[in-house]
Amino acid sequence: MNEVELIARLLPSLARGAGVLTGPGDDCAVLDVGIPGKRLLFKTDAVVEGIHFEKGTAGERVGHKALARCLSDVAAMAGTPTHAVVTLALPERFDPEYVDAIYSGLNRLANRYDVGIVGGETTANPERLLISVALIGTVAPERLVLRSGAASGDALFVTGELGGSMEGKHLDFEPRLREAQWLAHHAPIRAMIDLSDGLASDLRHLLGQSGCGAELLTSAVPLSPAARRNTARESARKPPLLAALTDGEDFELLFAVPARDAVRVLDGWKKVFPEVRLSCIGKVTAQPGIFLRDKDGTRPFTAHGYVHFSKPG
Ligand SMILES: [Mg+2]
Repeated sequence: MNEVELIARLLPSLARGAGVLTGPGDDCAVLDVGIPGKRLLFKTDAVVEGIHFEKGTAGERVGHKALARCLSDVAAMAGTPTHAVVTLALPERFDPEYVDAIYSGLNRLANRYDVGIVGGETTANPERLLISVALIGTVAPERLVLRSGAASGDALFVTGELGGSMEGKHLDFEPRLREAQWLAHHAPIRAMIDLSDGLASDLRHLLGQSGCGAELLTSAVPLSPAARRNTARESARKPPLLAALTDGEDFELLFAVPARDAVRVLDGWKKVFPEVRLSCIGKVTAQPGIFLRDKDGTRPFTAHGYVHFSKPG
């Protein structure tokens, strides 16, 4: 059973509370807790030694990644993160200085975005280190962006460059919070998601929620230097385009805007974020599925991104 199947199995029986505007299935839950003019965003995520980082990785980078993953999900809703709690599961013999370093990474990133770390829990985990972060944030209802609003004919954009993140970027990436805030104020975004499982997989999530398909122009997909070098563990033996389409942990933003606004969004972006690439990679289609277009024509794309615990069993 893989992650997707497990989630599908658990979802129908989940307890439902009051004030839930968007439950499981988007980057964050969206809640109405009675704050006038604001919606609450709620998210949790975990990093596990041996899966999300290798043993021996600098503690600062591990702490940074643990929080940055949650911040990236708040960015995907065009929200502002506010408070986090951190659960640390430690092996029996741990080095307190390593834990200090993890918190140094957590605190530095939290301070940069005015996020308070307001509690947590430490517990034991004999085998390996695990860090779980739960985060809340807020968004004005009129700025909130879900995965579900894309429409046929929309232009699809992606920030940054894709593929080969496991070579290093996955530990040091900057969540696209400022960019998402700017987009929410200056672009009529219809749908957005952050790229954690790979462009193909996350695009499929956005399209699934929106009830559409997409056609990608292969020459427009921004390849990272790591994807071009093709040396990262996860990218090994993949052609650069396939690495950009299927490697996980890019933590860039993928979003849809009406085609008539595409040029205006690109022009505005270049002035505000000259150092961050923004690429129009294709369009949303009424026909379901993902199709790749290049000089030879159009063909369906079926490979998926990274799926957690996909081994049989
Ligand atoms: Mg996400």
